[in-house]
Amino acid sequence: MAFELLTSVKERLIELLFPVKCVVCEKETEQKRKNKFICTSCLKNLSPSLNFYCPLCEARTADAKLCFSCRALRSLGEGGQDHFYLDRLLYPFPYQDFKIQKVVKAFKYRFIKELEIPLGRLMVSYLEKIKNKIDLNDSTLVPVPLHKRKFNSRGYNQSELIAQQLSKFLNFRVANNCLIKNKATKDQASLKNEQRTKNIKGVFKCAEPEQMREKRILLVDDVYTTGTTMNECARVLKDEGAKEVIGLTIARG
Ligand SMILES: [Zn+2]
Ligand SMILES: [Zn+2]
Repeated sequence: MAFELLTSVKERLIELLFPVKCVVCEKETEQKRKNKFICTSCLKNLSPSLNFYCPLCEARTADAKLCFSCRALRSLGEGGQDHFYLDRLLYPFPYQDFKIQKVVKAFKYRFIKELEIPLGRLMVSYLEKIKNKIDLNDSTLVPVPLHKRKFNSRGYNQSELIAQQLSKFLNFRVANNCLIKNKATKDQASLKNEQRTKNIKGVFKCAEPEQMREKRILLVDDVYTTGTTMNECARVLKDEGAKEVIGLTIARG
């Protein structure tokens, strides 16, 4: 009893000294809530879009695959472009939406690991809504890995946390150590297109090839920008015999 009282006094003191603010609107939120880093009204305003777009040119598509003209260009090898290995791309938010941008940035750069819970819930509700359009049965979740050095400095891999949340609610297996990033790379955002492909080529290895054979893979990352990273991961997984690789991110930049 005395211990409980002490704990609640301590909690109250922490609340007073360090009020928790919503990462979107920056208003104080109540400490006790599970989603204490996003307030209820901001969470309500984050509603996933159920439209699908071509992973390359962003044209609307019915199946989240490459559109007809991108498929034709890729098969001709136009512009020295690499083959595209990602079968589909799924994401519920445009990164231009400042609300989701704030949440993702806080999750990645402000080290608010607890955001895995509301973000995980948003992704689960998105997948629940689209699963009658896109076949996701028996998927294996593979998070895009971080290099060991980056993992150690951040303390967690944000893509892995999302994958774990998804597996909790959707009954998919997480193949956590399947992909390994064995070389530290420059930040893709700072590079031009051709440099991006070069920067990322050959940096991923598959450590569990037998787990990938004939499997449908849901490749999980936080944000999709040019797709070079995801495409390279998909190439490695397909090399090991994956049947289908579907990219899944929180947002597209
Ligand atoms: Zn808010
Ligand atoms: Zn296209």
